[in-house]
Amino acid sequence: MMDISRVPFESPYFQLEQVAEGVYAAIVRGGTGAWGNAGIVDLGGETLVFDTFFTPPPAQSLREAAQTLTGRPPTYVINSHCHSDHVFGNQVFDDAVIVSTTRTYELMSERLPAMLEEVRAHPPSLEEAARDVQDPRMRRDQDLLIADYRAMEAALPTLQLRLPDLTFERRMVFHGARYKAELLTFGGGHTPSDAILHLPAIATAFTADIVQVDFHPSTDIANPDEWLDILEQVDNLALKHVIPGHGPVGTGEHVRIMR
Ligand SMILES: [Zn+2]
Repeated sequence: MMDISRVPFESPYFQLEQVAEGVYAAIVRGGTGAWGNAGIVDLGGETLVFDTFFTPPPAQSLREAAQTLTGRPPTYVINSHCHSDHVFGNQVFDDAVIVSTTRTYELMSERLPAMLEEVRAHPPSLEEAARDVQDPRMRRDQDLLIADYRAMEAALPTLQLRLPDLTFERRMVFHGARYKAELLTFGGGHTPSDAILHLPAIATAFTADIVQVDFHPSTDIANPDEWLDILEQVDNLALKHVIPGHGPVGTGEHVRIMR
């Protein structure tokens, strides 16, 4: 039985669901330039945002949602991993402390400036690549992806890369008045470094792309065995609620399905 409910904040970019008191999943609406799911946690005294979407406009909407739901702007913003669909909205959180693993910081510094330069110089012709897709569901996914990329291209003139301010190696803990939140990394699985946010009191985690629900996984490291090892450690957390990087809010069962 899920105790997930909708909340009174409407965004064209994402659907906000309350997972527990003060804990919200921002599940993207496809094709709006948001692409990767995000989240908001009212730690008690401080507000935390988990990931920042693919473009600044949905990130701005996430910031407004955090302000509306918790009564204050976010103090902390997490970058779960180096992929653009989780970090390209960083710039709207100019007054917050952005946190990632040390390796994710390095990967963002190494990869993202070149990626932005490349997209600015040669916008990808995705329609061409998608032309021969026949399966209607694949076709629909392709169309949404193309729309996400078009939204990113529209944001390019003002899109600025904002890197994390603070990095950690294995574990960092936020001690809020309401929640203790552990930011954990088990190494690299989906990318060479992935972090999750664990709220032990309510057996809930924001897993980013380590767990994806109803969504085929992709990886950009060479050894998927490491991902399996990470999933075993995530499974050991005995989660009740999983907020994935892609797809709807899931349960601990989705960690095992992913494996
Ligand atoms: Zn990713």
